[in-house]
Amino acid sequence: MKQQGLSLPQGELSALVRSMPDFDGHEELVYTEDPASGLRALIAVHNTFRGPGVGGTRLWTYQDERAALTDVLRLSRGMTYKNAVSELPFGGGKAVILAPDFSKFSRPELMRAFGRMVSLLDGRYYTAEDVGTSCADMDDIRRETQCIFGLRDTSGDPSPHTARGVFLGIEACVAKRLHSDSLEGVRVLVEGVGNVGYHLCKSLHARGAKLVVSDIRPDALARCAQEFGAEVSSPTELYDLEADVYAPCALGATLTPRTLERLKVSIIAGAANNQLATEDVAGLIRERDILYAPDYVINAGGIVNIACEMNGGYCPDRAQQEVSKIKPRLIDIFTRAEARNLSTLTVANELARERFQAAGDSSVRVASLPTRADARSPLDPVGA
Ligand code: NAD
Repeated sequence: MKQQGLSLPQGELSALVRSMPDFDGHEELVYTEDPASGLRALIAVHNTFRGPGVGGTRLWTYQDERAALTDVLRLSRGMTYKNAVSELPFGGGKAVILAPDFSKFSRPELMRAFGRMVSLLDGRYYTAEDVGTSCADMDDIRRETQCIFGLRDTSGDPSPHTARGVFLGIEACVAKRLHSDSLEGVRVLVEGVGNVGYHLCKSLHARGAKLVVSDIRPDALARCAQEFGAEVSSPTELYDLEADVYAPCALGATLTPRTLERLKVSIIAGAANNQLATEDVAGLIRERDILYAPDYVINAGGIVNIACEMNGGYCPDRAQQEVSKIKPRLIDIFTRAEARNLSTLTVANELARERFQAAGDSSVRVASLPTRADARSPLDPVGA
């Protein structure tokens, strides 16, 4: 395998990466090409103060390499904040694979090549599922590395847990903004009904919410219409519809000044990572008097579930309890933001930074997680 380490202090590539708006002092960035398997992938480790970078692997068709680079920089930084705000013993990392033409390459071989890339990072990055990857892919990756979570025989697919966290987060938002403990009749625009969006729709429907769904996959839309009586909207028209909640559950950067002008909701609460195109959109959301559940706080259910593989092995009941903490965590952020007249994102960022910087300043720095073979060893959470 050709391993091209884009080690940041050196060379032109380093200068390019450093000049990118989404570069935020990332600790490590690695690019690998393996022509035999068709693998082209980037792994970014943003910050390891609380522990090794942990975050999923996205497989996506990017417009170009720069778009993939931007994505991995943003996603890995988001993981640092998500893991810190959720008080997990992890730093922030993420991987993206530039989707090849799978009619020419074997997917299992590509995943194994990616697993070899992960293993070369020697425990500084641990992977799991994300958009475009599945438990089956994780099984292939696992054949080459032990730095992996979310396997079928451990915590499994994180998506239902992410969806549950988002559902509880929507309940918190409805209680805060609509002063109601019930979701009966609450109208929710769910953008993207893939793994997380579908499970979210299921829970919302069971509690009497009215759903409007959009997706680019007709089969995913048809399933929600049939199972939950969801109204279907085109992706472009969704932003113009009257509703209580906008739940972005597709890709990131859907919240721009332009989409915000069109939205007629009082709550934004969804699963997508990096929902804001730029951070200043958080201020605009506040000016519009919309309650925003910061993405990396509300969508942490999957990684919280994964973290339950540590400290004595995975226990589903404990995972449920840990994911449930997302609701009081959000309520706390809403209360602090209101008291200090700040955006909810500003407050969440402060909390997250306090937590990972405190870990960086202290001597309690977790250097590496146990490997799969000794995953049952206790691991002391940092600063938790
Ligand atoms: P997924 O790929 O299963 O689902 C995404 C869905 O969005 C797909 O059905 C896709 O067709 C649809 N989509 C793509 N572009 C769209 C558009 N323009 N308009 C409407 N729909 C569109 O992914 P997922 O695992 O459900 O994740 C959804 C989001 O949540 C992602 O941003 C992901 O990073 C984030 N997230 C996921 C998890 C998890 O546990 N899976 C955890 C945290 C965050």
